[in-house]
Amino acid sequence: MPSEVRTIFIGGEWSAAQSHDSLEVRSPTDGEVFGAISRGGKPEIERAVDAARAALAGPWSTTAGFERGRIMSKLSALILDHLEELAQLEARDTGKPITQARTDIRATARYFEFYAGAADKVLGDVLPFLDGYQVTVQREPRGVCGLIIPWNYPASMFGRTIGPALATGNTVVLKPAEDASMSCARLTALAHEAGLPAGVINLVTGLGEEAGAALSQHPDVDFLSFTGSPEVGTLIQTAAARNHVPCVLELGGKSPQIVFDDADFERAAQTIVGVITQNAGQTCSAGSRVLVQRSAYDRFVGMLKARMSAVRVGAPEADLECGPVINRTQAQKVQGFLDRARGDGIDVIAQGSLDRSAVRTGYFVLPTLFGPVPTTHELAQDEVFGPVLAAIPFEDEAEAIAIANGTAYGLVAGLWTENGARQMRVAKKLRVGQVFVNNYGAGGGIELPFGGVKRSGHGREKGLEALKEYTVAKTVVLRHG
Ligand code: ADP
Repeated sequence: MPSEVRTIFIGGEWSAAQSHDSLEVRSPTDGEVFGAISRGGKPEIERAVDAARAALAGPWSTTAGFERGRIMSKLSALILDHLEELAQLEARDTGKPITQARTDIRATARYFEFYAGAADKVLGDVLPFLDGYQVTVQREPRGVCGLIIPWNYPASMFGRTIGPALATGNTVVLKPAEDASMSCARLTALAHEAGLPAGVINLVTGLGEEAGAALSQHPDVDFLSFTGSPEVGTLIQTAAARNHVPCVLELGGKSPQIVFDDADFERAAQTIVGVITQNAGQTCSAGSRVLVQRSAYDRFVGMLKARMSAVRVGAPEADLECGPVINRTQAQKVQGFLDRARGDGIDVIAQGSLDRSAVRTGYFVLPTLFGPVPTTHELAQDEVFGPVLAAIPFEDEAEAIAIANGTAYGLVAGLWTENGARQMRVAKKLRVGQVFVNNYGAGGGIELPFGGVKRSGHGREKGLEALKEYTVAKTVVLRHG
């Protein structure tokens, strides 16, 4: 394995890991090694946090919001200039169809565009208080932000976390996932090219239990943002608690799509199948349960069946509806869900098919629609993180809400009905962070505050709401009377 791999960026310089260790990068499409990343660990995290701390005290602290915004605008433009290169890299690293990869890179550029515009609009408050006093509440940067992101949307997660962090004047240390770090390294180089001062963005590639753990436990990190599994989320929150720092956690979901008998079935069926096969189902906000009113169950499930059967799975360059999953472990995990559901006697209603471009050594799984799935079954309760959809019938509004809220998660819900009063009633009762009515955005919508409740985590990313997470309020009470 090459020892000169230099994917660690600290204080404006690229370097290898101190140990000279690196990690192989495999393509999910054929299982072959096509690159390597540096195996950063505690020493690199220490240096990266020091660099971020130093940058916080440097010129960055006096860079006006509009100037930070200009650098971010430039980065957004550079990302679009390199759209095809970045999309090819992302598709190769994650296996996603090239059209999806292009969409993700455009989203990455949008994050920097959106937060560039916000950088000089981080407003405070003036509060009424006692006579003779002037009270202001100012929003200040948290400081050094430790960002730990997953492998499913690496480029756009780079924008989702770093965009609001920079807009509010923080500095960052980013730990991308060991399975997909390539686009983050390239984006870091572009950020440097855009003119970010040294130390504002630091990147440490490596394993979660080494680099990730060291970052989350570092006593000089002021704020943590983590997206990934609930199990690791618990470790992150524990580390944050030990250091008394806040954290934002986004930990996945078991999001319901609720289809009433008055819905626009065509639109609903097309969207629901599109969303669960997007990124091979590896989307935190994928709608993985479809709750269908019993009076319309056969008809609507028939429409889902036709669409799911037409989904083809193949290599990124074949640009089909669905690519491989990220690695062998994930393929085995998804296959395990499929096998157990079958073993438990749950009917397979429909399955997609393998395209010729899906080679045997790649990590391909067949998109599958199961139903009816008992609400207590793991397919109705646990996050599969694969292209697997569970159909569940319900009688009425009350039962739909009970089933929708009846899992440990609470991230997103889709609601399909033409009845306006019902839209309002049901949306209000769903315990989730986002509700889409007669549409559904999995991963989309830079502007839309996003995050969960319950086991899906807490805190909000995206939109202007994220600016609150990345800042701390300081109240200044001035007596002039
Ligand atoms: P997934 O199931 O999506 O792989 P993980 O929660 O395992 O989710 O990984 C999400 C991110 O968390 C990755 O960047 C990974 O390297 C990191 N990670 C994994 N284990 C730890 C850990 N013990 N401490 C900190 N970060 C970790």
